[in-house]
Amino acid sequence: MRLEDKTALVTGAARGIGAASARRFVAEGARVAIADRRIEEGEALANELNSERAGSAIFTELDVSNEEAWKNAVGQTMSAFGKLDVLVNNAGIIRVTPLEKTDLALFQKVLNTNLVGAFLGIRAAMGPMEARGGGSIINFSSVQGLEGREGMSAYAASKFGIRGLSKTAAIELGPKGIRVNVVIPGPTRTKMTERKGWTDEQYNEAYGGYPLGRIAEAREIANVVVFLASDEASFCTGADYIVDGGVLVGKPRA
Ligand code: NDP
Repeated sequence: MRLEDKTALVTGAARGIGAASARRFVAEGARVAIADRRIEEGEALANELNSERAGSAIFTELDVSNEEAWKNAVGQTMSAFGKLDVLVNNAGIIRVTPLEKTDLALFQKVLNTNLVGAFLGIRAAMGPMEARGGGSIINFSSVQGLEGREGMSAYAASKFGIRGLSKTAAIELGPKGIRVNVVIPGPTRTKMTERKGWTDEQYNEAYGGYPLGRIAEAREIANVVVFLASDEASFCTGADYIVDGGVLVGKPRA
């Protein structure tokens, strides 16, 4: 029960790493607002968690790029739980296109979800957190927040941006008791990385060149999110937490 009495809002929690985080949060004693634009899957997860522990979850519809929607989501969380201790800015999208096919609309869509979404989340959550004397904000970057990759101009720009936003927020919000950290997952098995018809062996083969030689399960990323949300991380702020199976350690000799 490492998160006993804590309340959290997790974006993009209808599936993938967000859903794994919501499950782990509830298992550790927290109450969680599952915030996503996927209503059916989000409500189903909230029902599942409530059947495990009554009153442990709500679903709130949220498009993270919409400032008004953020007010509503945080308002619903406050009404249900009375406080907000943890915000996980996990919702994200990826588009893989070369620069000549990355038009302004595509670039802005990725930035508006991955970077502006986290900015709006921080702005919406910081007031309620400050009022309670502190909190923990966990923002999602990627290995593409530390290195570029072909076809990922918009995604990498958004994920580098998350790190700058987080470090600045850590400086400004630290005196208010609010910690702000970044999780940097490596390749993780979710819809984002799904390849139709692939077997487990094919996934592990595709990622076999990295030190741990396999793709991560979403709960392995969620474990680090739990740590950052908990009081065990009470002296951690402004930092990057790499959970990548060694993807970023360097290239093997040719
Ligand atoms: P998924 O696509 O499995 O889940 C993301 C969830 O976020 C979906 O339910 C998605 O809905 C939702 N979402 C997307 N846009 C919005 C929005 N505007 N408002 C509200 N919800 C939204 O992704 P992952 O779980 O794999 O990724 C989670 C985070 O981890 C992302 O930030 C991603 O960039 C990062 N990450 C993932 C890696 C991986 O290998 N999986 C590696 C490195 C980082 P919808 O399906 O409708 O888009």
